[in-house]
Amino acid sequence: MDDEVLIVGAGLAGLCCGIRLQQANVRFRILEAADGVGGRIRTDTVEGFQLDRGFQVFLTAYPEAQKLLDYNALDLRCFEPGALVRFGGAFHRLTDPWRRPVQGLASVFSPIGTFTDKVRVGLLRSRVLRGTLEDRFRGQETTTLRALQTSGFSSSMIDRFFRPFLGGIFLESELQTSSRMFEFVFRMFSTGDAALPGQGMEAIPRQLASGLPTDSVQLNAHVVRVDAQSVQLASGETLRARAVVVAVEGAAAAKLLGGAIPDAAQGVTCLYFSADRSPVDEPLLVLNGEGHGPVNNLCVPSIGAPLYAPGKQHLISASVLGIHPADDASLQAAVRQQLAGWYGPEVNRWRHLRTYRIPYALPRQSPPALSVPERAVRWQPGVYICGDHRDNASIQGAMVSGRRAAEALLEDFA
Ligand SMILES: Cc1cc2nc3c(=O)[nH]c(=O)nc-3n(C[C@H](O)[C@H](O)[C@H](O)COP(=O)(O)OP(=O)(O)OC[C@H]3O[C@@H](n4cnc5c(N)ncnc54)[C@H](O)[C@@H]3O)c2cc1C
Repeated sequence: MDDEVLIVGAGLAGLCCGIRLQQANVRFRILEAADGVGGRIRTDTVEGFQLDRGFQVFLTAYPEAQKLLDYNALDLRCFEPGALVRFGGAFHRLTDPWRRPVQGLASVFSPIGTFTDKVRVGLLRSRVLRGTLEDRFRGQETTTLRALQTSGFSSSMIDRFFRPFLGGIFLESELQTSSRMFEFVFRMFSTGDAALPGQGMEAIPRQLASGLPTDSVQLNAHVVRVDAQSVQLASGETLRARAVVVAVEGAAAAKLLGGAIPDAAQGVTCLYFSADRSPVDEPLLVLNGEGHGPVNNLCVPSIGAPLYAPGKQHLISASVLGIHPADDASLQAAVRQQLAGWYGPEVNRWRHLRTYRIPYALPRQSPPALSVPERAVRWQPGVYICGDHRDNASIQGAMVSGRRAAEALLEDFA
């Protein structure tokens, strides 16, 4: 039997679109250019280490993920709320006082921000928790930096904490990302945990794909042309269907469909090292609050999720914002030099495993970027579009966009 719908791309958006079509008993096929599902969420096994293709975290509060994923089966390993901030030659622990009251008291006296800043965090928290999640995308929109300044945060709090913390999430440290995205992320961090699946981030798309009909995903199928009721593969083959859903990254969608699809992106460079001894002893994010050095944030996934590293070894990930212009060897040397300043000469004994350069990690979301209603998922009759660039640059945004595209299509079919 012919497929009724062809979905281009097996990232989270394409997979969630398929899940919704399956619920409605609509036959579909997902065409994926790569050799596996997951898109930007893939994990490579290298010498027994699980290397996510770019460090990222899963936020357990994502409502769409709560609906579709089995968290127990993902064996989620949560980070401690808060962060360790490197500043002035020392590490300072910043704890979420609402979730860890005792340690939270200690962070009130840390040099990262003033006492008033910590009170403002509380006020901000109660504001972003009000109303629905959609309300966060309806409020006034400005840049994150402007929103923080208008909320009265001191420049020391912004530079030492918010810049590296949000920089690691938005993958840009100028904080030019929409304030709506900031409020969304802040709400998600306030109501759930940041976690890693025990065996790597790719477990998330793999779990979604495992619920789809066998043979509904065709790998190594690169689509080169999309029309209302057909797609052409790089092999020259043409496939026909009642409708096509384009579930690829913004830049790839712009190539396939043309038109006004934003294709600007934030990139990131991620270096992985192995070590016999972990430089941190808790599952905490380490942030660079010093304002210099290539590394923005560091983490040791194997501290909370031991299967990220074999035996008694540890896996260290260091994220550098943007695509660093230096070649791998020079970048590695600069990263080691910075981290040796933090952790001492043992850093020179860390073994470099791999460097990932990811030019399209997130669609750029400077204002005016996000609004309600979200970007339309109907492209032209018979062609639909989804992906994080239609909603917001996150696992939640990608998943919702896939469902929205499927629901628009089902409405039109009806
Ligand atoms: C390094 C990094 C860090 C991140 N950090 C976080 C984080 O901490 N928290 C968070 O929530 N989100 C994070 N994200 C964002 C999150 O991973 C993405 O928003 C989400 O995975 C996007 O899913 P998608 O389905 O929209 O797109 P993609 O995952 O990009 O899927 C698109 C798919 O389409 C395929 N494709 C493209 N062109 C074609 C073609 N012509 N033919 C066939 N197939 C094609 C691609 O191969 C790909 O599989 C991060 C992303 C990266 C890369």
